[in-house]
Amino acid sequence: MLKDLSEYNIKFEGLKQGIHFYEFTVDNEFFAGFDCFEFDKSAINVELEFKKQSTMLVLTFIFTGTISVPCDRCLDEVDVDVEGEEKLIVKFGNEDYDQSDEILILPIHEYELNVAEYIYEFINVNLPQKRVHFEGLCNQKVIDELEKIEQKTEIVNDPRWSGLKDINLNKNK
Ligand SMILES: [Zn+2]
Repeated sequence: MLKDLSEYNIKFEGLKQGIHFYEFTVDNEFFAGFDCFEFDKSAINVELEFKKQSTMLVLTFIFTGTISVPCDRCLDEVDVDVEGEEKLIVKFGNEDYDQSDEILILPIHEYELNVAEYIYEFINVNLPQKRVHFEGLCNQKVIDELEKIEQKTEIVNDPRWSGLKDINLNKNK
């Protein structure tokens, strides 16, 4: 079942000018709403500083939390930290502003903004590239097995055996 993303809706019409704070939680259900199933577990807290000015909105997203993914080294589950801060500027009108990733142009009559998509994008660009256990915390059993497999693969790729491979190929012709 898809998560109802309407809780990420911010009705800014009627908000006083100034700074407003919002808090959201991001879990697996949230990611599932974006067809993203690559995490075993995720728990990320998002703080949003929502600044309403007379002609624009300035949104600052600060997120902290963890995701659980298979370790790149031993394949056991590992919790990795996700942290970041991203800014989104919202302007109004149909003028040709310099469009960039940071600036969103909304129609002048717009009165609300759903921030779920931006939270999703911002978390994604801040996901750690390296997803491994701290030194010594990997599942040594699995690593030993993987090394065995690697050694076997090396033997198969040994140039001394390449003659044999050619023979096999010729047979198939
Ligand atoms: Zn590991």
